[in-house]
Amino acid sequence: MQLLEERIRRDGIVREGGILKVDRFLNHQMDIGLFEEMGKEFARLFAGCKVNKILTIEASGIGIACIAAQQFGCPVVFAKKSKTKNIAGGVYTARVESFTHGNVNDVIVSRDFLGSGDRVLIIDDFLANGAALSGLIELVRQAGATLVGAGIAIEKAFQPGGDRIRAQGVRVESLARIQSMSVENGVVFC
Ligand code: 5GP
Repeated sequence: MQLLEERIRRDGIVREGGILKVDRFLNHQMDIGLFEEMGKEFARLFAGCKVNKILTIEASGIGIACIAAQQFGCPVVFAKKSKTKNIAGGVYTARVESFTHGNVNDVIVSRDFLGSGDRVLIIDDFLANGAALSGLIELVRQAGATLVGAGIAIEKAFQPGGDRIRAQGVRVESLARIQSMSVENGVVFC
């Protein structure tokens, strides 16, 4: 998506260690006009898929998911990063290792909000090693819901998550795919 690529070129900051900061428009300050265009693009890509629920993970997926959900006319459920070791019943749970924070979280979704009748589109801000997306896919599987696919804002295609998850037969659509990036040369798109 050209609009998003241009914005990453203009306002994204590449940090050492393979981190792209997009705090100016995506996951600290949020450009809602841009989110609306991204939501329309997700709606175009997944048109006819009968999505009735969007699933994301806190925190930075929530804003994008909510604006996208307006296009689909469906609710958003976000997986919560549980702080308790003993998780109460009534939830689906998966382990997710955070690329940016270097820790592991148990993420949970209440059984009340995801079930076998649901056709789920997963939305997230980044796809890197695929840990977050794999965790969300696991929650959909536990619920017995149908996974329509995953809509990602920025895929770091030089990390293995996207290839690995597509190889499992999951439809993954990324609005901007980064082939390589460095502090010296900035971002190169696929
Ligand atoms: P993965 O689980 O695929 O390795 O990483 C996905 C999650 O890590 C995303 O939800 C996002 O929050 C975070 N993430 C991964 N890479 C980056 C990055 O380069 N920049 C930022 N801001 N977040 C990232």
